[in-house]
Amino acid sequence: MQTIAAAISIGVILHVGNHLACDFPRLISSSNDKYKKLLKNDFGSPKPTYIDLVKGPEGVTGVLMVIFMAIAFTLATRWFRRNLIKLPKPFDRITGFNAFWYSHHLFVIVYVLLIIHGEFLYLVHIWYRRTTWMYLAVPVLLYAGERILRFFRSGFSTVRLLKVAIYPGGVLTLQMSKPPQFRYKSGQYMFVQCPAVSPFEWHPFSITSAPGDDYLSVHIRQLGDWTQALKRLFSEVCEPPVAGKSGLLRADEATKKSLPKLLIDGPYGAPAQDYSKYDVLLLVGLGIGATPFISILKDLLNNIVKMEEQADSVSDASKAADVSVASSNESTTPNRVPSKRKKTLKTTNAYFYWVTREQGSFDWFKGVMNEVAELDQRGVIEMHNYLTSVYEEGDARSALITMVQALNHAKNGVDIVSGTRVRTHFARPKWKNVLSKLSSKHCNARIGVFYCGAPVLAKELSKLCYELNQKGSTKFEFHKEHF
Ligand SMILES: Cc1cc2nc3c(=O)[nH]c(=O)nc-3n(C[C@H](O)[C@H](O)[C@H](O)COP(=O)(O)OP(=O)(O)OC[C@H]3O[C@@H](n4cnc5c(N)ncnc54)[C@H](O)[C@@H]3O)c2cc1C
Repeated sequence: MQTIAAAISIGVILHVGNHLACDFPRLISSSNDKYKKLLKNDFGSPKPTYIDLVKGPEGVTGVLMVIFMAIAFTLATRWFRRNLIKLPKPFDRITGFNAFWYSHHLFVIVYVLLIIHGEFLYLVHIWYRRTTWMYLAVPVLLYAGERILRFFRSGFSTVRLLKVAIYPGGVLTLQMSKPPQFRYKSGQYMFVQCPAVSPFEWHPFSITSAPGDDYLSVHIRQLGDWTQALKRLFSEVCEPPVAGKSGLLRADEATKKSLPKLLIDGPYGAPAQDYSKYDVLLLVGLGIGATPFISILKDLLNNIVKMEEQADSVSDASKAADVSVASSNESTTPNRVPSKRKKTLKTTNAYFYWVTREQGSFDWFKGVMNEVAELDQRGVIEMHNYLTSVYEEGDARSALITMVQALNHAKNGVDIVSGTRVRTHFARPKWKNVLSKLSSKHCNARIGVFYCGAPVLAKELSKLCYELNQKGSTKFEFHKEHF
């Protein structure tokens, strides 16, 4: 996107600069003879002034296009889009994602102006030599096609809300019915729209259910106006917290007949969806960045369970066949059971590192951690929680917590911080050690490193993968996603 924006800016500067600083001055300073002979037919008589040229249809459309593009460009910069710049009211409305999103739709006016600009082209008289519309036709058709497809697809996909839970850490979980035509891979995301919050806004969220589940789910962290409004809306329909449920608000089909309407559009591809082509997975999620990996972990476990069931049923059938051969004693050739085509899973191990700042986040993630720990009888998935808001590991103040935590874990098998069987560490993970260990443990393996979170860590992980690839036989492939 940034490359395209930079290319458009350079193109505009060269094009406009050429007209304003070169063509126009040359035209107005041309000798009368030359003007009459070469340019009069196109520019009329008397010879136009510089202002006349700027005020003509070519000039006006050109200036307007530059103004609209400058607005869209400015509001799309990180400062404005991510609210990094703080403006006083009412100018604060021109910062934030919505201002960026709506101002980018000025492109429709810019395209109309561009076609007019191309139609009033000087010096070119034959219509098919005025080629501007031809350059626009293909991208406009593609764009319109995609919008129409999305419009129809999303219109059909009204889903029924099955369950809602609002956790104290500010995360809202929505579980909804899965439309029959909706097929997706773990790691993918979809757009969600809630007409009661805004009839036009579609927001992307990673799908946290697994493809084998008969429902769809998303986990939504409160961030800006839309997610906060959504939480407010659902808080009103939720039941008050049940004693012992740590302030969790809930609602489901059984308790509430009329949950707000929700529309979905998707699924859309994301980097994590190709996880199944790797021998080993290293999944790293920061905070809410764990969401694409929840589905992957569940899918991995579902597939392992399925494969084990398949293997069991094949071995049971072959045992039964052997018994029948022995008892009938009619033939000496072993009666082979037709071997079922087993779907083999390439991924043998997954390591999941979840790093979060607030202990409150454990509430929404607890269910997932427990589910994974319970299903994972063969220890295929190794989970690590890192809580970074507490003192660094080794700090005297955290020593006490670590001791109590270790005692409780040994006694009850439950971590006191996360409330699950997964142990919590207090600090940032030492990524070099993590990757080096994986490299020596899984020699010659192809390890997919999937990261979802802030850009800073992406750089560090990508660099480490590169360095380790130069040294050993294990191959790390890095993929990242930022929300
Ligand atoms: C592929 C993808 C997957 C995501 N998955 C999750 C998830 O599983 N859980 C979760 O809590 N969040 C997820 N997000 C982020 C989520 O979309 C935003 O937090 C949410 O849209 C914020 O909206 P807002 O109006 O409340 O906040 P705002 O303050 O308006 O926006 C905050 C930031 O969110 C992003 N954003 C806002 N609106 C949109 C939009 N319509 N389309 C795209 N980006 C937008 C922008 O980067 C913006 O700077 C995902 C984002 C992407 C791109």
